[in-house]
Amino acid sequence: MRTQVAIVGAGPAGLLLSHLLHLQGIESVVLERRDRDYVESRVRAGVLEHGTVEMLRETGVGARMDAEGMVHEGTILRFDHHSHRVDFRELVDRTITVYGQQEVVKDLIARRLADGADLRFEVDDVAIGGLDTDRPTVTAGGETLSADVVVGADGFHGISREHLKGLETVDRTYAFSWLGILAEAPPSTAELVYARHENGFALHSMRSPSITRMYLQVPADEVLADWSDDRIWSELHTRLADDDGFTLTEGPLLDKGITPMRSFVATPMQTGRLVTCGDAAHIVPPTGAKGMNLALADVRVLSHAIGGLLTDGREDLFEAYTDTALRRVWRATWFSWWMTSMLHVQGDDPFADRLALAQLAQVAASRPAAAMLAESYTGLPYEQGWSYR
Ligand SMILES: Cc1cc2nc3c(=O)[nH]c(=O)nc-3n(C[C@H](O)[C@H](O)[C@H](O)COP(=O)(O)OP(=O)(O)OC[C@H]3O[C@@H](n4cnc5c(N)ncnc54)[C@H](O)[C@@H]3O)c2cc1C
Repeated sequence: MRTQVAIVGAGPAGLLLSHLLHLQGIESVVLERRDRDYVESRVRAGVLEHGTVEMLRETGVGARMDAEGMVHEGTILRFDHHSHRVDFRELVDRTITVYGQQEVVKDLIARRLADGADLRFEVDDVAIGGLDTDRPTVTAGGETLSADVVVGADGFHGISREHLKGLETVDRTYAFSWLGILAEAPPSTAELVYARHENGFALHSMRSPSITRMYLQVPADEVLADWSDDRIWSELHTRLADDDGFTLTEGPLLDKGITPMRSFVATPMQTGRLVTCGDAAHIVPPTGAKGMNLALADVRVLSHAIGGLLTDGREDLFEAYTDTALRRVWRATWFSWWMTSMLHVQGDDPFADRLALAQLAQVAASRPAAAMLAESYTGLPYEQGWSYR
């Protein structure tokens, strides 16, 4: 079988790429290991940058996001028991939209299927070959697919990255993880609250007017079984409290889990006609809400580069993909590290903890410092459009 682009992985990156290529008249096949229901119900990211929202809207997959997503014009930083609002609209004239990653995935799958896409779920044993040729292959379930380009959009634990030649990785692990809960409770504030308390970091966020998503900093080796629902709520109350009378609304827990924190960048993001994007190439700690946004920004660059390659034989854009994508990746990696360092308690490093508090005080007191946070949080401008034409 032949196709123009074989995409491994139906996460947000693989699905959006397939959609953007279709809009440019380029055919693709998406191969996904898990079943559709699993992919559509996996609870992960929930904050969409300004540019992500515009891209989804502009490419015709933003209708439900516009109807159900919650537009936020700012966020709250809470430390020393006081709240400080960073006003995105006023500082950088941009906003973010709270809309779950699984909803983006559902919208993309629905649209791809409506457009007659070849999406294959529950595909086992995907193998990539022919990388020394202009027709690389993807083999799965006894069938071989030959393509002009193979895209590894298969996440951090995927198989594509290991095929890249001269691969170098840079990473940072953190001494803490996030214990996350999804609760059937209306949000206690209209905007996200990033709280730094002596006991550790806590984040109050939401997925809808009736569902709250919250996180607690816990040690990296923490065991979920040690956290009863009562203990989780008690710690959330403690860490999110302020002197202005904030009250936290409780509700039944729908989900809870522990997510490790890591920064990781693997280069190059391409070898011959194989390219990686999203979590397959880089991951960030979730404190800056950058993971999915960065994956979709890679896809924007890639859609443009593949468009140039397959419609006009432009090798230059395709060859520049790694460098173009990495400029944004490293700035987001820095921002995610900076937010993480500023908001988490190190405990065994009092110097780092004092610096973090000074940094928070600077953001609260200085308009340029707040604007810098707002600019990165709402999303840096893109270097180019998603379409080659
Ligand atoms: C538990 C968790 C919580 C997170 N929370 C946040 C958050 O709050 N905020 C935030 O910004 N980011 C968060 N992230 C990060 C964000 O979800 C990712 O950055 C985003 O999913 C990246 O999208 P992707 O398409 O690159 O990869 P993925 O979403 O990982 O998609 C990769 C797809 O490839 C499939 N696949 C893997 N291997 C194969 C194979 N061999 N063959 C076929 N298919 C394969 C996988 O099943 C998956 O569907 C979180 C991540 C995790 C793991």
